[in-house]
Amino acid sequence: MPIPLATMILALLGQPQSGPTTIFASRVLDGRGGQIRNATVVVDRGRILRVEPFKVDRPTFDFTGGTVLPGLIDAHVHLTAYVNRKGRMHTPEDGDSPAQASYSAAANAYRTLIAGFTTVASIGSDDDRDLRDWIAAGLVPGPRVLTSLEPITDSDLDPTRLREEVRRRVDAGANLIKVFASKSIRDGGAQTMSLEQLQAVCGEAKARGVPAVAHAHSTESMAAAARAGCHQIEHGIFADQAVLDLMVEQGTYFGPQCSLIFRNYLDNRSRFEGLGNFTASGFAAMERAIPLALGVTRSAAAKPGLKLIYGTDAVAGAHGSNADDLVCRVRQAGQRPMDAIVAATSRNAEALGIGKETGALAPGLAADLIAVVGNPLDDITSLRRVALVMRNGVVYRHDPSGAPPR
Ligand SMILES: [Zn+2]
Repeated sequence: MPIPLATMILALLGQPQSGPTTIFASRVLDGRGGQIRNATVVVDRGRILRVEPFKVDRPTFDFTGGTVLPGLIDAHVHLTAYVNRKGRMHTPEDGDSPAQASYSAAANAYRTLIAGFTTVASIGSDDDRDLRDWIAAGLVPGPRVLTSLEPITDSDLDPTRLREEVRRRVDAGANLIKVFASKSIRDGGAQTMSLEQLQAVCGEAKARGVPAVAHAHSTESMAAAARAGCHQIEHGIFADQAVLDLMVEQGTYFGPQCSLIFRNYLDNRSRFEGLGNFTASGFAAMERAIPLALGVTRSAAAKPGLKLIYGTDAVAGAHGSNADDLVCRVRQAGQRPMDAIVAATSRNAEALGIGKETGALAPGLAADLIAVVGNPLDDITSLRRVALVMRNGVVYRHDPSGAPPR
């Protein structure tokens, strides 16, 4: 392979071949609620060196008119969930080979990354582990992945057995623990685990230093999870003010979904219909959930002191559309754009225990950042027009037009 002239000259001059990369934008959001006009992010060896409050001379990337912000984080995805080539949701019985399932999960990871999401928590499959590790090794392009491995669902287990289940997962490399405190919304969402069972799971997780995420829909299941000291509650379709207050008291992180998860199922019904609990009554329950989900998101966004995070529950067909719920939050649920962005960056990083690594544009953190066309504080749909995706200082997408990939 011929050596580029610039590389030869630099080598002759004895200079390092890769100096700092400079990214200028008309607006830089730090992910913690701060913004600087006309600033330059300086990146070196995969880390953020500093943010200069001016335009450096000849920046490596110039996003005049655009905005630079930390890479987005989705705290709830399922990367191994995909639509198979028959146009149906993949199941273990659909005849797809392990290779087909693996490439499909890798494709989901890539789509998510180039949509501007540089970190995700994939909570629900043992197969997430290898994908996480291959991405971390730089062998497969994708977001940084944290995984719970297989969720804990068996409500027949006693507290001792549940603690063992937690330890087994942590020993197997789980970054967090996922427990089902209630049924699926398609099955009504009623509580499945008692306070004592949830105390066992969430207490053991805490003792082992990993966050525990409780899937909970009914107010009873949410209250039990919050009282049990679970780190985070997902969904919460039936949340009322009392349980939101309880989460504030307990310091529980809360991740309601605004609309993507339901729209994805309902708009693509033929992909799912007839599989598991995707029955006529399951779809009817999801139809009913749409206004409830919006109402809960609106109440949560308006609740002082609530640690509102951001997770879409992206499943088969939704990967790469992860910014849609940010649009829903701002346009339909009335969340302030800056608050929605903070939730999807620094607060998510804090909730996942990786706030010292990513989630903000601050010196020393990983160079995980994106540029978008326009100003998301004025028009939140700007987060769908991604012009640059950098993770650990590596550029995975650069298209100043911000046009959707493919
Ligand atoms: Zn989920």
